[in-house]
Amino acid sequence: MEPILSGAFNQFNEAADQLKLADEMRAYLTSFKTVFQTQFPVEMDDGSLKMFDGIRILHNTARGPSKGGIRYSARVSLDEVKALAMLMTWKCAVVDIPFGGAKGGVTVDPASMSPNELQNLTRRFTSEIIPIIGPDKDIPAPDMGTNPQTMAWMMDTYSMTQGYTIPGVVTGKPLALGGSEGRFEATGRGILNVIEEHLRAEGGIAGRRVAVQGFGNVGGIAARLIHQAGAKVTHISDKDTALYHRDGIDAAAAYAFVAGGGTLAAWREQFGRDVEVVDGPAVLAADVDILVPAALESVLTEENAAAVRAPLIVEGANGPTTTEADAIFRERGIVVIPDILANAGGVTVSYFEWVQARQFQRWTEERVNQELGRIMARAYQAVSARCPIGSPGCTLRQAANWVAIERVVEAVSLRGIYP
Ligand code: GLU
Repeated sequence: MEPILSGAFNQFNEAADQLKLADEMRAYLTSFKTVFQTQFPVEMDDGSLKMFDGIRILHNTARGPSKGGIRYSARVSLDEVKALAMLMTWKCAVVDIPFGGAKGGVTVDPASMSPNELQNLTRRFTSEIIPIIGPDKDIPAPDMGTNPQTMAWMMDTYSMTQGYTIPGVVTGKPLALGGSEGRFEATGRGILNVIEEHLRAEGGIAGRRVAVQGFGNVGGIAARLIHQAGAKVTHISDKDTALYHRDGIDAAAAYAFVAGGGTLAAWREQFGRDVEVVDGPAVLAADVDILVPAALESVLTEENAAAVRAPLIVEGANGPTTTEADAIFRERGIVVIPDILANAGGVTVSYFEWVQARQFQRWTEERVNQELGRIMARAYQAVSARCPIGSPGCTLRQAANWVAIERVVEAVSLRGIYP
C-alpha cells in the first residue's frame, strides 16, 4: 500500500479507536462507494493514438453529493486517489458543507501534452465518467495539474451530451462560465484564515517568519496572501528552485510573475538578485515560525521530520505528512494544522460556486471571502475546542478527524441502511 493510503487508513483507525466506533461502521467508512477505472484513447497532435489510465472514486455520499478534484499527474494511482477521496469526505465534513468525498485523476504529465492534446484527453475522460458525475451526484473540480480551462472543457463536454448548459456539474470554472469570484484564490486564502485564527490569541501573523513549499495555485497564492498580511515569507520554492531571503521575499511580485507563465528561477534572475538560491530540503528545514508544505504529498517523512525547525506546520497540500513524521512532530511538540482543515478553503468556495450555479446567482468577491472566512473560523473553532492549544493528550489532526468522522457517522446513522 502506498504511504498516503496507509496513512489515511491509519489516521481513520486511530480516530475510530478513540471514538469507539463499531466494527460495522469502521468497515463501511473504510470502503469506497464507487471505484471507476478506465483506459481510454486520445488522439495526439501527430495523428497517433495513445492510451491513458483514468480513475474516479467516490468514497462516501452520506452527507450529500460527492465532491473532489481531478488531478493530472504521472504519479496518479488507485491508492493515491482512494486516499484523497477519503480525505475529501472528512474535509467537507470538517467545514460542514453538504458534500461527500470523491477524487479523480489521469496518469499523465500535463507538461508533456499540448493544449490541444489536453483538451482531447479531458473531453474523452469526461465522457467516460459521465455515468458517475452530475450536479446532484458527483461534482469534480481542479486539483494538481488541472485548472479552470480543464473545468470549462469538462462542463462543455457534459453539457453537450445532456443537450443544455449545466454549470453545476463542475466547480473551479472560469468566471465567464459561471465560476465564482474568489474560487481561484480560495485554498490559499483559507490557509491564511486558519493561521490567523490559530494565532489570534498570540498576536496574529504579522511579523512571523514563514516558509512555503510549492508555488502553484495553493502555495503561490498562500505565500502571496501571507506576505500581504505582513508576515516575512523567507522561503518559497517550486519544483525546480528554492529561494531564501532573511528579511522576506516579495511573494506577491514573484506570484504575479509565475502566474504570467514564468518560473521562480527566471523571476530571481530578472527581479530578485538579492534573493539566495538554496536547496529544496532547506525549505522544509527552515528556521521559521510557520512551515506551509503546499506541493506534493508525503514530503515530511521519518527521514526529514527531525530536521524540521518550525514549531507550527500548516498543511496546504493533501497528505504532506506521513504517519511516522506525524508521530515525530507530536513527540517534539510541533503543532500541525491538518490538511482537511487547513486546505478546505478551496472546496468551501467550490460549494459557494455550486450554490450560485444552481440559483443562477452571482456573489461579489467580498461576500465570498467573508463567508469563507466565517466558515474557516467556525471549522477551526470546532476542531480546536476538541483539542485546545497546549493539550498534551491530543493533536489538531486527531481533533479534526473526530469532528469529521462524527458528522459522517451521524449522517449514516440517521439515514440507515437501504433497503
Ligand atoms: N482539489 C481541491 C481539494 O483537494 C478542491 C476540491 C473541490 O473544490 O471540489 O480540496
